[in-house]
Amino acid sequence: MDRRKFCYALVASYLSIGSCSARGQGFPTGEGIHDLVERANSEDDEGIVASGALSAEGCMLSAGIGSNPFDGVLGSSGNVGVDRLFQREGEFLLRSFPVIPYGYFLRDDNAPNAFASSKSINRNGPHGTILFGIRLLTEEFERDGGAGFAIPGIFAHEFAHIFQFSSGFQAPTPIMELHADFLAGWYLARRSQIPGIWTDVRPALQSFFEKGDYAFNDPSHHGTPNQRLAAVQAGLVSRTSRADEAFALGLRYLGQ
Ligand SMILES: [Zn+2]
Repeated sequence: MDRRKFCYALVASYLSIGSCSARGQGFPTGEGIHDLVERANSEDDEGIVASGALSAEGCMLSAGIGSNPFDGVLGSSGNVGVDRLFQREGEFLLRSFPVIPYGYFLRDDNAPNAFASSKSINRNGPHGTILFGIRLLTEEFERDGGAGFAIPGIFAHEFAHIFQFSSGFQAPTPIMELHADFLAGWYLARRSQIPGIWTDVRPALQSFFEKGDYAFNDPSHHGTPNQRLAAVQAGLVSRTSRADEAFALGLRYLGQ
């Protein structure tokens, strides 16, 4: 692919131009990641980074899980309806965050989690890769009787990490996590303004509260339950801000 075609793919992806096919969107579904990695490795395309140390710069949703999350990557949740929701939410997020990651599902049988990495493995996701756990998805749907209102907030938390990575922002883990929580709140507030789309932030607040931990001496400590809840709530009030403004407000909220 030459540079012009590559740039078009980015623009098309960002603006969600075209049909809902698996290609050309920020969040394709139903395609195995191993095929994508193999194909990317077989091409000399500028801008594609494939395989290698995929977890070089990455953040989990919750503390825990020591293994490489890319070992459990899936191209589909196994449910067409869930795949469609995932795609739709990805498109909403692409309109709010100034980054274009590529999204996949994650086999997280042992502990529910999600993951964001700065490593791009597909040209349609030049800023990184987001993995969303199947078990996490299932538990979040069960939380509110199948509505899954916490899922957009979790998704936004992962997008926020991609935004941090592309901005070059680095800080101790709890700061990175609470900053991502703040931006998740900002996104939920923006999402509530989309006509015809129902957003209930209460399940998200409960979910982030439950994902806090007290492992203060653990390098993977993500913030206490109350800190995580407060960060999302603080982000909710900044819905009229642009992404870069919300990013700065989140830093200020955390004293950075
Ligand atoms: Zn995180």
